[in-house]
Amino acid sequence: MVTRLQSSSRAALTEDKQIAAFSDLMPKPDLKPELLIKLASRLQTTLELEQILEIFFSELQHAVLVDGISFSNSNQNLLHSVGKEGVHSCSYRLTTNKDYVGELTFSRNTRFREHELANIEGMISTLVYPLRNSARYAEALAAAFRDPLTGAGNRIALDKTLEREVELAKRHGLPLSVLMIDLDDFKNINDHYGHAMGDTVLKQVVDCIATCIRQTDMCFRYGGEEFLVMLASADSTDAHRVAERIRLAIKKVCFEHNKKGKFNITASLGSATMYPSDTMHTLTERADEALYKAKNNGRNQVVTDREEIMLATN
Ligand code: GH3
Ligand code: MG
Ligand code: MG
Repeated sequence: MVTRLQSSSRAALTEDKQIAAFSDLMPKPDLKPELLIKLASRLQTTLELEQILEIFFSELQHAVLVDGISFSNSNQNLLHSVGKEGVHSCSYRLTTNKDYVGELTFSRNTRFREHELANIEGMISTLVYPLRNSARYAEALAAAFRDPLTGAGNRIALDKTLEREVELAKRHGLPLSVLMIDLDDFKNINDHYGHAMGDTVLKQVVDCIATCIRQTDMCFRYGGEEFLVMLASADSTDAHRVAERIRLAIKKVCFEHNKKGKFNITASLGSATMYPSDTMHTLTERADEALYKAKNNGRNQVVTDREEIMLATN
């Protein structure tokens, strides 16, 4: 279903209109059937949001001249625009019987006339299902790269991302660091508080790590209770600082079991910073070796792969 939300200069809002049933007083769309057939068949050729909007934008020009289109769905964090923004706009809410699909805004520098809106509305209905399918495809793709328990990236995502970031860092001469994080004595947490509580701890730890890193950094679940954090543009000093921040933040989280009460946990961290000769495997290996040392030194600490950092913090 397509609902008109707004058709005026940007400041003023008009009433919501459902255009599924055109009233007798409203102009009817005046569209060539060939145009609709071509549009519908081109829209079936892709599941990519950007391409769907570009196809629609180019075919729409045969019926109504529009400067720009933007599509958004805040629930799914989708936002994409084609063309340029103009002073006048009209917006529509797209829904299927079950799903909210998103909002579509058309804009240009001259006011839209009623017969032009009728043509836009006549074409928009071809977009509802392609956009819905595209959103579902994006969701499925995202899920394929996420660990379902914690929401952190999974190993597939890690391999793809780290390989790309190592190459980018080498090409642009930028530093890159990784942290390997392992929860201390986690087996005891499961044994004492139960596996379900252990799962909750893992989720909360990932949320806690997310608060300690930048948006460009990424957290992946490396294995059971082990996480890898990729720190873009971070040298060894930056990486050590972030690792300490994470260690302290995890130590501070207060977990609560409904019968056995409150408890805390600690984590050990190994940090490694890229050398030009590194591959993603040698880099993670060094972070793993540093983590092993942190465990052997007594846990609840950060060890880096660089001597000078270890000396500076001892
Ligand atoms: P250390 O300080 O040496 O790391 O000791 P540890 O007990 O943390 O390490 P160990 O490797 O002996 O145990 C890891 C535990 O993590 C055992 C395993 O059952 C648990 N674990 C792994 N994945 C999950 C999970 O998805 N959920 C829960 N609840 N536990 C998990
Ligand atoms: Mg552990
Ligand atoms: Mg472990």
